[in-house]
Amino acid sequence: MQTSYVNSALENEGDSVLACVPLQPHVLSPADNRSLSPKLEQFLASRPETPFLALDLDSVRNKFLELQKEFPQAAIHYAVKANPAPAIIQLLATLGSRFDIASRYELDLCLSQGVPAAWLSYGNTVKKSVDIAYAFGCGVRLFAFDSEAELEKLSRHAPGAGVQCRLLSQGKNADWPLSRKFGCDLGMAYELLLKSRDLGLSPLGVTFHVGSQQTDPQQWVEPMQQAAELYRQLGRHDLELGWINIGGGLPATYQGTLVPLSCYAQTIRQSLHQSFGASPPYVMIEPGRFLVADAGVIQSEVILVAHKSREDVRRWVYLDIGKFGGLAETMDECIKYRLRTHRDGPMGSVILAGPTCDSADVLYEKTSYELPLDLAIGDRVEILSTGAYTSSYASVGFNGFPPLATFCL
Ligand SMILES: *Cc1c(COP(=O)(O)O)cnc(C)c1O
Repeated sequence: MQTSYVNSALENEGDSVLACVPLQPHVLSPADNRSLSPKLEQFLASRPETPFLALDLDSVRNKFLELQKEFPQAAIHYAVKANPAPAIIQLLATLGSRFDIASRYELDLCLSQGVPAAWLSYGNTVKKSVDIAYAFGCGVRLFAFDSEAELEKLSRHAPGAGVQCRLLSQGKNADWPLSRKFGCDLGMAYELLLKSRDLGLSPLGVTFHVGSQQTDPQQWVEPMQQAAELYRQLGRHDLELGWINIGGGLPATYQGTLVPLSCYAQTIRQSLHQSFGASPPYVMIEPGRFLVADAGVIQSEVILVAHKSREDVRRWVYLDIGKFGGLAETMDECIKYRLRTHRDGPMGSVILAGPTCDSADVLYEKTSYELPLDLAIGDRVEILSTGAYTSSYASVGFNGFPPLATFCL
């Protein structure tokens, strides 16, 4: 069964693998910026009070099916932290998705939606002992670690559980890198995986994350090769690892260029095949952003348009949502959302800012953004592909503003 995955996945690919390499960048046309599903358009047209996130569940479904088609044998674990809306959990559970949880609270959320504990992986490498014990008591049997102390906690509070060792990753070419904080180097992974067996745990393999909003499929290749070499070395100690967890990182549609999912899938399948040969491990994948980002749109309203002096050519546009209301990923202007307004006139450059009394609450200043010159107070501005890492990042009441309202349609 392990071999049939790679064989069937690589069948009939032939030259198409190569055809994937010199991809023309896909430049977003203005038309892309304007197309939302009829369901979303209809909801926006009813003008609920702003700001809010509206999310089309059909779009989440389609993304899941697309991913499943590209990775037919992989275990797909949705990273709940990307958007924990119960309707999303329920939908994905119905489609057969599994889930990656980061805390006991996400565990409770999944259980409350009827997800069996056996479908959950506790992927956070930083866990309190009481939370490990709680998860184990609930039936969770899959945990990640990246340090000796965490491994010891697991052996004490989740005896016999399946464990995956997180590898360090560079986060190169990712718009939202997750490097440094997570993972250990290969030498330590080698030691700790052997030790996990000695401690009575069940070592399953390694896990890595190439960085969120990863724009380069090639970034999966090196960790895959390193994992394969590690598995060979551990094999000499009769430690056979049956799984590899290739993490999240698959991108959403923001400003800029993207290669299609099929190219990511081809590159990953090919590197799995080349690294592990005829009997590769089972693949686990943990998409967050990819599944939910494009399904969502935030509708906001212009509170103020201002200049800082009579000579100032660049307008400041203040929206009723900012960094603290859900757009935290504009930190360092990492994630560059596409915007839509309902005016068609000539455009001019803007600095975009949020509504709070904090000078950090500026969304885009270095990045050049243009909006219609006749944009006025009270106009609606739509922020596209905002279904991931928005509602879950919104503050509970900074400056008194409530958390971001979410409507799943
Ligand atoms: C956040 C996270 C993910 C999801 O990452 P995306 O880039 O949103 O796909 C997957 N796995 C782990 C362990 C994570 O922490």
